[in-house]
Amino acid sequence: MRSSPCSGLDRWVSYMDEKLKTRIKGLIGKDAKIVEEDFERALCSADIGEVPFAKRLFETTPELVVQPKNVEGLVKIVKFANDEKIALYPRGSASSGLGGVVPTAKGIVVDLSHMNEIIKLNREKETIKAQTGVRWSEIEDFLNRENLSVRSYPSSFFSTVGGWIATGGYGIGSFRFSHLKEQIESIEVLFPSGELKCIRSDEEEVTRFFGTEGQFGIILTATLKLRKKQKRSLPHLVYFESFEGAFTFVTDMIKAGIEPYHIKYLDATHLEAVNTPLGEDLFRVNDAVFVEFEEDEERTKFLELAENRGILEEQYLSNYFWHERLFPMKTRSRKPTHVACELIIPIESAVPYLKEGKRIVERCRIDIQVESHIVGKDRALLIVTHLCDIRKPLRYLIHITLIPALTRLGVTFSGVPYGLGIWNTPFIKDKFDKKTLEIYRAYKKEVDPRTILNPQKFFSVRTKWANIPGILFKPSVFRLLSRAAALVTPGLAKLTIIQEREMRQSLLEETVYSCMKCGSCAAYCPAYIVTGDESVIPKNKLYLAKKLIKGGQIAKKDSDRVFLCTHCGMCREVCQNDLDLVTACSELEKMLEARFGKPEEAIREFVSSMESQENYWRFVYAQKI
Ligand SMILES: Cc1cc2nc3c(=O)[nH]c(=O)nc-3n(C[C@H](O)[C@H](O)[C@H](O)COP(=O)(O)OP(=O)(O)OC[C@H]3O[C@@H](n4cnc5c(N)ncnc54)[C@H](O)[C@@H]3O)c2cc1C
Ligand code: SF4
Ligand code: SF4
Repeated sequence: MRSSPCSGLDRWVSYMDEKLKTRIKGLIGKDAKIVEEDFERALCSADIGEVPFAKRLFETTPELVVQPKNVEGLVKIVKFANDEKIALYPRGSASSGLGGVVPTAKGIVVDLSHMNEIIKLNREKETIKAQTGVRWSEIEDFLNRENLSVRSYPSSFFSTVGGWIATGGYGIGSFRFSHLKEQIESIEVLFPSGELKCIRSDEEEVTRFFGTEGQFGIILTATLKLRKKQKRSLPHLVYFESFEGAFTFVTDMIKAGIEPYHIKYLDATHLEAVNTPLGEDLFRVNDAVFVEFEEDEERTKFLELAENRGILEEQYLSNYFWHERLFPMKTRSRKPTHVACELIIPIESAVPYLKEGKRIVERCRIDIQVESHIVGKDRALLIVTHLCDIRKPLRYLIHITLIPALTRLGVTFSGVPYGLGIWNTPFIKDKFDKKTLEIYRAYKKEVDPRTILNPQKFFSVRTKWANIPGILFKPSVFRLLSRAAALVTPGLAKLTIIQEREMRQSLLEETVYSCMKCGSCAAYCPAYIVTGDESVIPKNKLYLAKKLIKGGQIAKKDSDRVFLCTHCGMCREVCQNDLDLVTACSELEKMLEARFGKPEEAIREFVSSMESQENYWRFVYAQKI
C-alpha cells in the first residue's frame, strides 16, 4: 500500500493494491457492487463543471467506485475506509458543478444513487420516508399516484434527495415553502465511525447537514413533509422594459402580500435563448417575471397589480414556460459548455449587483444569461451563466476567471455563494459567519477526525505538488486574484475574441461537446434503470465518443456496452440541452462497429434480459400512461 502523493499533514491511501481491493471485496460481499474498470472510474472523476486544470491539481480518478445495495454494505465500506484512512466521496447524480463530488485524493467514490428505496408513506401525517439516493422525479411520480406531492424541488428534477440536502435546498416552490430544511421532519445519518443517528428537524444538529456537501456524514434517509397534489396551475409570464422594472415589480408584489407558489426573474438574453430551440420568436426578448399561482384569489390580486406595469404573455405561452421549468438549460442552445456564478443575495441588492456585474461582463464582450429564483420575501438565488466553448481554451479560461470576480462582487452586495465544493472554497468565510464556522470545524473534528469524507475541499483546499498551487485558494490570495481578474479580464477577453470562429463538426462531435453531463438522461434511460450500468447512459457514451474523437484508446468491452440500448428515445425527450441523442449515438455505434464489430450476442442477451425484468415493463407502462 503506497500513501498519497498529495503530501502535507493529512495523507489518505490513494493507491490500492490488489490485496487491499481483495479485502474490500471480501468484506462487502453481495452488499455492494464494486467498479474497478478504468472507463467507469473515469466517469466518476468529474461533475457538470468543466475545469480543465482539475486533474493537474487533484487525484480526480477514484481507485474504486462502490455502489452499495443496502445499509449494511454502506456501513461496511464507510467503517473500513475510516479504519484504513481512505478518502470517501459520496455521490448522488453528480449534477452539481463546484467539485463537491470530485475526488481530490483518489480514494473511493460511493455512488448512492442505487439506495433509492421509498421506505414509508404516512398518508395521515402527509410525510414520506425514503433513502436519499432516490431522485426527485421518482419520489414525485410515486406521490402523484397517491394524490400527494413534495413541497418544493430543484429544477434538476433528476437529482437525488441527498444531493439537494447536501448542496442547495432552494428551487421551485421555495418562495412559498422556503428552504428545504423547513420541509424535513428528520434525517438519518451515517457517520465515518459507522454510527447511525436519526436527527429530528427541531434539533440544531440537523442544520449542519444542509449545504455542507457531505462533510460530516452520509445522509441515508430523509422524512419529507408533503402536501396535497395541486389541482390548479395558473402560470403567468410578464415582460418589463428593464431588469430594474422587473425587480421593482417583484418587490411590490411581495409588499402587497401576494402569494404565488413560485417566482422567477429572467433576463432578455435568457428569453431570446428560449426561442432558439423552438425555431420561432414566440417569446419577447425582454426582461420578465414568471409566476406560478395555485389559487384564483392570489392570481386576481397579481393581475390587478400587473395591469399597466408590464406586458402579460398569452396564457398558452405561460403554460409552456411552466411546463419547461424542469429543463432550465435548454437555453444553452447546444453551446458546448457553460459556467455559472450562483449567489444568494438580498432582493434589494439584485439590481445594483446586476448593474455592476453587467458592466464588467460587457467590457469582456461575453454573453451572459441571468435568472433568479425568488426564494423568500427578502432573498433571491441569482444565477449568472456564460455560454462558452471548452475547445477554445484561452477564452474558456477567461470565462472561468470571471466567475470568482462576479462572486466576489456579489459578496460586496451582501450576497453569499450558493455552494462551495472545491472552486468556491476561498469564499467559506463569506458564506458562513464566524460562529457557524467554528461550530462546523469543531463538529468535523468530532465526527470525522480522520477527515475521510470529501477531504481537501469545502473547509480548505489542498492540492498535489506539495500543495503549492493550493496557496491560490487561500482566501486572502484568492481575493487579490479575483480583484485582478475583474480588472485584467476585459482586456484579455478582447485578445481572445479571434477564437470565437465557428467550428465545423459532425452531429456526434457537436453533441459530445454540448453535453453538460447533467445526468438527466440517466434518470429516464430504461437500459440504465434495468442494468444499473453507468456506461449505457448517453452522457457516458458521449464521454467515450469524446475519447474516440480525440484519438484515445478504447477497449472493445467499453465499445460493446454502447450497443446496449433500446433506441426508445427517452433520453432525447429529457435531455437538458435538447440534444439529438438517438442520432448521435447511432453515429457512434456505426463508428464503433467499423472498428470493433457489433456485439450481436451481447445485444441479444441485453434485449431478452430487459424484457424479462419486471422494472423494465413497469417503466415502459409508466411512459405510456
Ligand atoms: C439542469 C440543472 C438544474 C439545477 N437546478 C437546481 C435548483 O433548482 N436548485 C439547486 O439547488 N440546484 C440546482 N442544480 C444543481 C444540482 O442539481 C443540485 O444541487 C442537486 O440537488 C445536487 O444533487 P445530486 O444528486 O446531483 O448531488 P451530487 O452532485 O452528486 O452531490 C453534491 C454534493 O452532495 C454530496 N452528497 C450527495 N449525496 C449525499 C448524501 N446522501 N449524503 C451526504 N452527502 C451527499 C456530494 O458529496 C457532493 O458534495 C441544478 C443542476 C442542473 C444540471
Ligand atoms: S434510446 Fe437508449 S440510451 Fe436513450 S433512453 Fe433509450 S435505452 Fe437509454
Ligand atoms: S445528454 Fe443531455 S441530459 Fe444527458 S447528460 Fe448530456 S446534456 Fe444532460
